[in-house]
Amino acid sequence: MMNICYQCGIYRADKIIDPDGPVAICPECGYRRRFARRPLLIVSGASGAGKSTACQILLGRLTQVVLLDSDILWRSEFNSPEDNYTAFFDTWLRMCKNITQSGRPVVLFGAGMGVPANIESRVERRYFTDVHYLALVCDDQALAERLRRRPEWRGSGQPAYIEEHQRFNNWFKTYGSAEPPIRLLDTTDIDEETTANQVELWINEKISNTRG
Ligand SMILES: [Zn+2]
Repeated sequence: MMNICYQCGIYRADKIIDPDGPVAICPECGYRRRFARRPLLIVSGASGAGKSTACQILLGRLTQVVLLDSDILWRSEFNSPEDNYTAFFDTWLRMCKNITQSGRPVVLFGAGMGVPANIESRVERRYFTDVHYLALVCDDQALAERLRRRPEWRGSGQPAYIEEHQRFNNWFKTYGSAEPPIRLLDTTDIDEETTANQVELWINEKISNTRG
């Protein structure tokens, strides 16, 4: 419940951050509260690129971070393309911020999370040091084949769905050197275990840079 001030009891998500504490300062009364400021790691990619499988393989293997799939909180009321799903992203940033207070950084797996514009502008982004982005990508044909192999009830084999995710896949591939950076991992020719190993290496690299 970090957003409620211990001293004045007023709810403010927009605390002033002093990175030297680090402390979160209540804009209402000036109360300074120490908190755990850690990086947030986001593993993204189009549907079919391999992120959920990588998450499943790494669960139980990585214990220095908390791995979560953003789909677990999805509900129809978050489906608000008119405002770019801001309630969904705000909810996740608040979740990750609070989980991080127990001492371990969060690695969040999800599609829309991987678009930095959805994260960097949100009010609770400030509670993290860096947000690191990794996107799993693959070639269009491989993506289509993987989506067609899924059980029919998921609707992933529909041409419109495949096209949408090929477009998203290509969005990552053409992101280039924009800021903040997105690291790409091409999963076209590697198996699921190798993909998970590469994701693990990236996670370890990012958390060892910022520990302490
Ligand atoms: Zn206060």
